[in-house]
Amino acid sequence: MNNFTFIFLCLFTIVFSGTRHKENNVRYVEGIFYQDDRPVKLEITGGKITSITPIKKLSGSRRTLYIAPGFIDNQVNGYNGVAFDDTAITVEDIHKATTGLWKAGVTTYLPTVTTNDGRIINKNLATLAKAKADDASLGSIAGFHIEGPYISPVDGYRGAHLLKFVRKPDWNEFMDFYQSSGNNIIQVTLAPEVEGAMDFISKCKEKNIIVALGHHNASAQVIDEAIEHGAQTVTHIGNGIANSINRHVNPLWPQLADDRLMISMIGDGFHLLPEELCVFYKAKGVDRTMITSDVTSYAGMPAGEYITTEGEKILLTADGELKYPAQNVLYGSAAPITKGIGNVMKVTGCSLSQAVRMGSTNAARLYNFKDRGELKPGMRADIVLFDIENFNIHVRKTIVNGHIVYDERE
Ligand SMILES: [Zn+2]
Repeated sequence: MNNFTFIFLCLFTIVFSGTRHKENNVRYVEGIFYQDDRPVKLEITGGKITSITPIKKLSGSRRTLYIAPGFIDNQVNGYNGVAFDDTAITVEDIHKATTGLWKAGVTTYLPTVTTNDGRIINKNLATLAKAKADDASLGSIAGFHIEGPYISPVDGYRGAHLLKFVRKPDWNEFMDFYQSSGNNIIQVTLAPEVEGAMDFISKCKEKNIIVALGHHNASAQVIDEAIEHGAQTVTHIGNGIANSINRHVNPLWPQLADDRLMISMIGDGFHLLPEELCVFYKAKGVDRTMITSDVTSYAGMPAGEYITTEGEKILLTADGELKYPAQNVLYGSAAPITKGIGNVMKVTGCSLSQAVRMGSTNAARLYNFKDRGELKPGMRADIVLFDIENFNIHVRKTIVNGHIVYDERE
């Protein structure tokens, strides 16, 4: 490279990176601190929180404005009309999903790829890896979650995952996925009772990949063994399990009883009854519970009737419920984690501070994201500002890495 080319490249880099998010850099934000309800002022420098200082009061429309760390969702199958299992997915599509999530207050998420043909999983992970590396995502894509294909083949436990693609754990195949993902797979959901699972879990542990138990029908003994091998959490507890189970012998009790396991639960109010959410939360406690969404491409879309690629008629309500009227069942999830956080507050009686731990802090701790999940000096300025009315969180502004990525007034 000659000097002229070097200078040109430097100038280009400065101009390019300087203009991309320049106008929406933010220096100060004020709100009611989520942990103790006191008004505070946050100072942001270079994308990081540099100080948090108490202030006397907030005025005008900001009097009811809460300030909290942006939400972290560990199970996002798609958003804004974009499905991460779609074979034609592009980096631009993924960015469209990311911007939709920002609007819902989600500042970090794990795009989730589910049970499928290996070629499709590899292809989509490669595209997701490009989107993750793209500056436009501002670091919001923290890594990927692979749900399956190594899950239970049994109806009821398998859920909507296609049987023809369900298989036993295969480390060589998984290493292909890992490579396609640019080494960015950070969680695998699997069934521990399937042949070869224990060895697979140990290998994941060596690579610091979190193993979650899900879509399985393992016994207490197998669950214990899986934990001994390194399994750390449960994927959407209470879902991915058959409707009729043995009242004594089923995977719920040992997973709830064992303090070594965290759980994630879909908090939207459609996937689990209030009493289920309550019991799960009480059994695991605030620090072992994560709220997740498991959202699909319909999330973030306007309410109304949709026709699926298979020609099925489905209905998305204004409340975020995704119905499949022909069979009177849910068609999946379309309510962002934000809805779940509000609903969990409503049904468990937990505080906002506790709900934010379950919707942000705990995931950061599990995945070892040291720069996010809390508001304190030195952390990334990943911030959500919102009002709460009747347990509905209304996002007014979202900041990612110091940039305003959503403002309802614009
Ligand atoms: Zn699932």
